[in-house]
Amino acid sequence: MKSVNIGNVTVNTELNTTIEFRDALCKYIDPELFFPDERRNSNEYQDNENVRLAKKICGDCKHEIECAAYAIIRPNIVGIWGGTTSPERKAIRRKLNIVGLTEEEYEA
Ligand code: SF4
Repeated sequence: MKSVNIGNVTVNTELNTTIEFRDALCKYIDPELFFPDERRNSNEYQDNENVRLAKKICGDCKHEIECAAYAIIRPNIVGIWGGTTSPERKAIRRKLNIVGLTEEEYEA
């Protein structure tokens, strides 16, 4: 198993989201909510009502930490994962000095 430590969370980089997150709360909700338009300016995006709602749903999901970590180590992932937006994950990567790899690189 390939893994990466992010803070005190160890992330399996070989996770298959369709299997590991099969009981995810977002599975039952319109996916549009989790993929808002990220081209808006950062403040407008963060204050978006749908973004807040998606984050709230993630907060109630048992996969929140694992899901956020999964997306943090994959810079190409967009949308809200584990209650984090793409800009927030970018900031986390910068803070933790994580470059991240593409899906292809993880699978190689
Ligand atoms: S934390 Fe959020 S995005 Fe991740 S599986 Fe749960 S509901 Fe879906």
